[in-house]
Amino acid sequence: MDDFKCLRCGACCRWKGAVKLDNAEVDAIAGFLQMPVEEFLADHTVITPDRKHLSLCEKSNGECEYLTSDADGLPACTIEPVKPRQCRIFPEKWNFPDWQKVCAGGRAMKKM
Ligand code: SF4
Ligand code: SF4
Repeated sequence: MDDFKCLRCGACCRWKGAVKLDNAEVDAIAGFLQMPVEEFLADHTVITPDRKHLSLCEKSNGECEYLTSDADGLPACTIEPVKPRQCRIFPEKWNFPDWQKVCAGGRAMKKM
């Protein structure tokens, strides 16, 4: 997927699916937010439907709790330096079904 370029549409952060976390990511995000791990776990994570993973909480509209906008109005991640691996490797090494339909960068690839 050498020709993929993120176009910062933010759709991957609005995707209504789990953003899975491992233990190291929980520690890193809680630390970044200067929050006790127990508080982060209780207030900012949920168990995935298959009960196998922890996931970041979503806003009521389904987008990630940490999705925000930068000064130019572009989508930005509040926890960018410590965002989970799933976010860092999308879409090259992890993605969801039909991701190319919602990801602006994926749609651009198909036209090439
Ligand atoms: S943690 Fe950041 S990059 Fe990952 S889904 Fe949430 S807002 Fe997007
Ligand atoms: S959906 Fe694709 S183009 Fe949009 S922000 Fe995510 S990776 Fe970038």
